[in-house]
Amino acid sequence: MKKIIRHRECLGCGRKFIPVYSHTEYCPTCAGFAIRMAAKKLPSEVVKELWDYVHRHGYVCYYTHMELDMDDRHSPWYCVFDHWKPRDSSKIVITSSLLNEMKSNLLEEEFWYIIIALAEHRRRGTPFKKIKLACWPGHVMPEKNAVALGPQGSKAIKPIYKCSLCGKRILAYNAKYCPQCAKFVARLHSKNLPPETITATLDYVRKRGFICYYTDIKLVLDDPSSPWYYVLDHWIPQDPGKIVLTCDLFNVMKSDLTEKEFWYFIEAFADYKLKGKKVCRKKLSYFWRLFPVEDC
Ligand SMILES: [Zn+2]
Ligand SMILES: [Zn+2]
Repeated sequence: MKKIIRHRECLGCGRKFIPVYSHTEYCPTCAGFAIRMAAKKLPSEVVKELWDYVHRHGYVCYYTHMELDMDDRHSPWYCVFDHWKPRDSSKIVITSSLLNEMKSNLLEEEFWYIIIALAEHRRRGTPFKKIKLACWPGHVMPEKNAVALGPQGSKAIKPIYKCSLCGKRILAYNAKYCPQCAKFVARLHSKNLPPETITATLDYVRKRGFICYYTDIKLVLDDPSSPWYYVLDHWIPQDPGKIVLTCDLFNVMKSDLTEKEFWYFIEAFADYKLKGKKVCRKKLSYFWRLFPVEDC
């Protein structure tokens, strides 16, 4: 009697697998991947390119070659689809849930510029140079109750006072802060933070000015659409005990990482890009996402 060969080559990844049914053409991982692409209604050319990629490289991150998790939907390494160019569906690549958040609305070249510049700043203190970002959406909206508490009316023009936060001259006898600092203070108060945290954050600004806690760059105060617009960042995710100042972009990139984890990945990604060094995974203390199960 002829022996039945039960192994089959998967149409997706090309690896050998044992099909449950005679007509199964994809291994379970690729079958799941196919369902996800169908649920996303990706154009057929994009689907073809993704299969080509998987066939050549397997399920590894397009940017860092890190192995991706295909089943654990809350893992930072869960395989997600990323618009290579923000909001442009003509090229979709696969990456990890974490890197997808860090890349946010950056072009690939911008992402690598920022990773390498941050790593250089961290290692050698090289000043971080801001660049113009092509697709930054400017999604930070000023809080509703962040109203200016600055000079009211135009009557009190004569005496010159100083803003008690930045030291800038102000022209109002009854104002404690300049209009910009007043907005900042209102924003800080709108966050329901403990009074000690508010005091510590104000002390930071008094000492250092509106400077990014992580990179020392000067923050933008008046343009919420700028990637360099200041935001209040929970130093430890969700912990109101310490709030630091950073810009919108770095806040997005830091995501739910601790500062230590953030710098670990910045340096590891930079080492991958510059030296081809393999990026090792790290257990993350707070990062947790749950992607829905796609059905189509
Ligand atoms: Zn497969
Ligand atoms: Zn001020």
